[in-house]
Amino acid sequence: MINISKNKCIGCGICVSLCPEEVEIIDGQVKLKGEKEKCLKKILNACPQQAIKEIDRKLVFALGTDDKKNIKDNDHVGEAKYFQIWNYSKGELVYKEERKNAKYQEDEEKIYGDPGKAQAVSNILGNVDVVVGKMFGPNIVRMKNRYVCVAVREGEISKVIKIIKENINEIVEEYEKKDRNGLILN
Ligand code: SF4
Repeated sequence: MINISKNKCIGCGICVSLCPEEVEIIDGQVKLKGEKEKCLKKILNACPQQAIKEIDRKLVFALGTDDKKNIKDNDHVGEAKYFQIWNYSKGELVYKEERKNAKYQEDEEKIYGDPGKAQAVSNILGNVDVVVGKMFGPNIVRMKNRYVCVAVREGEISKVIKIIKENINEIVEEYEKKDRNGLILN
């Protein structure tokens, strides 16, 4: 699966000139028309921004939410009432399930950054690879090497899903790092 990172692309048009049959610019943004391997292999190494990548990895995402329509925006993602679990594979994100953040109800008074609280959230997240929220608290220091922590400015979950798909390159790059910093996506 070839992906062109929206964040990294500067719209220089080099890829379009090399492979006009398969790549086009629409409203200033580069889009793939197809995946004819011969042509796309040519543009993979030509991009000055390294914005074009082949992504084979599958990832499990958790989106923290209170109302199940928007990601939590009034507190840290670890304080969300629910985590929506989405599976990424071959350019698609598919909703899998909702996990209740049980610790939220039991321990509302716990102080931020409490290691016990971080452990409780980790237990709920389980097999998750990437945690998505608007805000991350002090526990991000404990979380960031276990999960890719992605902060997004957008609130509506449907728009957040689109942002994740558009920027899957950077998310995979961050996932593969030994020492992660986390990402901020717009
Ligand atoms: S070569 Fe890279 S930076 Fe230039 S338009 Fe294509 S994807 Fe964007």
